Amino acid sequence: MSQASPHPKHFLSDKVEHFTESVIREMTRQAMQYGAVNLAQGFPDFPAPAEIKRAAQEAIAADVNQYAITWGAQSLRAAIARQMREWQGIEVDPEKEIVVCCGSTEAMIATLLAVCNKGDEVVVFEPFYENYGPDAILSGAKPRFVSLRPPQVAGGEWTFDEQELREAFQHQTTTHHTKAIILNTPNNPTGKVFSQKELELIRDLCVEYNVLAITDEIYEHILYDGSEHISIARLDGMRERTITINGLSKSYSVTGWRVGWAVAPPAITNAIRKVHDFLTVGAPAPLQEAGGAALSLPASYYRELADRYRTRRDHLIPALEKAGFLCYRPRGAYYVMTDISAFGFANDVEFAAYLVKGVGIACVPGSSFYKHPKDGSQQVRFAFCKKPETLDEAARRLEKLRRK
Ligand code: GLN
Repeated sequence: MSQASPHPKHFLSDKVEHFTESVIREMTRQAMQYGAVNLAQGFPDFPAPAEIKRAAQEAIAADVNQYAITWGAQSLRAAIARQMREWQGIEVDPEKEIVVCCGSTEAMIATLLAVCNKGDEVVVFEPFYENYGPDAILSGAKPRFVSLRPPQVAGGEWTFDEQELREAFQHQTTTHHTKAIILNTPNNPTGKVFSQKELELIRDLCVEYNVLAITDEIYEHILYDGSEHISIARLDGMRERTITINGLSKSYSVTGWRVGWAVAPPAITNAIRKVHDFLTVGAPAPLQEAGGAALSLPASYYRELADRYRTRRDHLIPALEKAGFLCYRPRGAYYVMTDISAFGFANDVEFAAYLVKGVGIACVPGSSFYKHPKDGSQQVRFAFCKKPETLDEAARRLEKLRRK
């Protein structure tokens, strides 16, 4: 039987046409290909804490090797609830309000799949962590972007326009409805830590327009210069309309473990649990067990973590500045967004290609954090969650760039 071969798109979902593979992970592949120092993807190149590795080994030895309860091991959920009480004063019922997922990445998409309907809009600050766009599209929702503007003075803050944010919430018609705002504080890629005043404004809009806040707080412990992390769930009126997402990856340097979670009121939690159950059944059981141990580390662990990252930030930024980058100093998380106008490249993608091949440093092109590539065309992001030796080597290679 002969039949014309189908159009290449015949077998594909329309959804996948609207986004590309991760640029961040593509840059890691290029770093490996060219033997470059990888300051692109945000993962540590130093060992994870010994006590949590031991806890994982012990869990495997003790045969915690079958499925955990699908919404998460009891010990980990209890530890998450305890931490939210201790750090943010938020009371959570671990039996009804937590879903443990395969990383905060799954927690985010499971949440969006659980709450979005066709025609829903999701407000996202831009520049944004690249997952949020595809996550919204895969959930049938439409992202609506609100600009974060770079600091106008050295050491200043990224800011947003109150009116622009309000308009994003107001954009409601019979077919369009604002369902949620995705918040990420401390923020990737800008390093912005949202202030109490900014969060109160977002709260007021969420309450006025009956909108959910989905808040990605994966960098909650990585803070600099006295900045304070505030979970929006703790503001009056937000507990019942917030989904708080977090995970082990960044606080405990175990990005490959893929253990994260979503915390939400019971009805929303139930919906997320259903989606999660059919997406992945559960996160790795022994690593959830070790997660309980990780979340029990003393407060000094988090102070030292933030201190070490501050030192690394203050190691990389001067080297970048010396080479000609304009750096937007982060208040949290472990990335620095930079302006590359001084180098005279047509765009960020060409610059990043030159940097990885010609200088031997991988960064992330700024355009991958914007809807319209031209908005990020003179920016690139560097990650500094690396060993001092790695940053030294990057600094040495940056000298080449300066001399060019
Ligand atoms: N969150 C990390 C980053 O922004 C890594 C996640 C990823 O691989 N996309 O680099």
